[in-house]
Amino acid sequence: MILEFRGGVRPLSRTFCGKKDIEYYKSCSVSCIPASDSASFSVPVGSSVMRGSLIGQTDSTPVYASIAGVFKGILEIEGTRYFTVMNSGEEGEERLFMPESRSLTEMDAQYIIDTARRFAIYDSRSGLPLWRLLEHALGCKRLIVDCTERDPASAIAYRLCIEKARSAVGGAKVLLHCIGALKCVFAAEHYRNAAFAALEECGGDEKLFAFGRLEERYPYNDRTLMDALYLKDLAKGETAIEKGVLIIGIEAAVALYDAMINGFPQLDRYVSVCGSGVLEEKNLCVPRGITVHDLATLCGGLLNGNFLVENSLLCGSKASGALGNATSCLVAVKPKKRQRVACIGCGSCASACPMNLIPSEALSKKTKELALSCVACGACEFVCPSNIPLLELIGCRDYKDKFLPEEPGNLRDSDDDAPEVLL
Ligand code: SF4
Ligand code: SF4
Repeated sequence: MILEFRGGVRPLSRTFCGKKDIEYYKSCSVSCIPASDSASFSVPVGSSVMRGSLIGQTDSTPVYASIAGVFKGILEIEGTRYFTVMNSGEEGEERLFMPESRSLTEMDAQYIIDTARRFAIYDSRSGLPLWRLLEHALGCKRLIVDCTERDPASAIAYRLCIEKARSAVGGAKVLLHCIGALKCVFAAEHYRNAAFAALEECGGDEKLFAFGRLEERYPYNDRTLMDALYLKDLAKGETAIEKGVLIIGIEAAVALYDAMINGFPQLDRYVSVCGSGVLEEKNLCVPRGITVHDLATLCGGLLNGNFLVENSLLCGSKASGALGNATSCLVAVKPKKRQRVACIGCGSCASACPMNLIPSEALSKKTKELALSCVACGACEFVCPSNIPLLELIGCRDYKDKFLPEEPGNLRDSDDDAPEVLL
């Protein structure tokens, strides 16, 4: 059965990215790992560090050098603070870690939370340290491992399902044990058959797991997943955890399991660099804090006039600096200047809104209600045939960086029109 949710859009974006195996890189020119205002470093500026060396702390979470090189301190680049390690050009060393051998029954919730913190596991879906999510989720009865893509052109979650299915299922078991939940749903777009098959092979014989085949619509967020999987509405400001459901991205499940098995912190990130504007679309495993420039270079560069957008063409902003904790996809796009014209009252924006709002109300009045309830998913603006910058009008985000998608209204409007090459 294909599970549906209210609202959303179906951007027609054909890609072969799903056919590309993940490529692994352990080095880059510079690593810039995001640092909070209270972040501190624990090694002298200018010292040499190995890949895996502890260099500081942020969000009460340790920070490890993701490449070997020279530690440059916490630097502010374009308004963001980063732990910065420059590649010195020499063959870098990797710090050795000792795997721990402890069975699941020997671990209690606090041990797993401490381990997620010690290994600096981040949930790329929310951008938060996993241990913080787990602390809040103790007692949740359900776990959703989100295996959907941020953008239809991306395929990194799909490749993780296929290539790291054992780690994903293993990580999900640890997470279930930690929060005390009884069931885990792996949720992905319904046509990702190879992903479901790989996950089922690793965990299908156990009653712990179920598989949610979702209608191909974007965005997939807490609200749409809760709607599709449990027919539950999140009230304004309510979180899935408050409804007894922890939702995490597949990357965090994989990273937690791999860290526990190898005794190695999360030094790398998984990311798709995709879209027609990049020379070669790739699924990559790269050092944390890799720059957008290095990512584009790994993919052969961008075609003239294109730039990279973070996460989704629906609502993403132009990517700059380094790969953020909450970014798992960069889409190359060539912006087009589109003429804004008057609202024609078509109602498309309201139909697309997963929050059941009427976005066009922002045209006539500034409603605080609208701004507070809006989750800035961008679906309304994406479908608007009049090119009205609804997100800016709603006031839910400063959209000075927002680009306009290449083609207005490039949507399939019929469920019969199945994707041909989205794999
Ligand atoms: S009003 Fe907000 S929540 Fe609704 S579609 Fe637009 S951006 Fe998304
Ligand atoms: S989609 Fe655009 S043109 Fe249609 S009602 Fe909404 S704001 Fe108006």
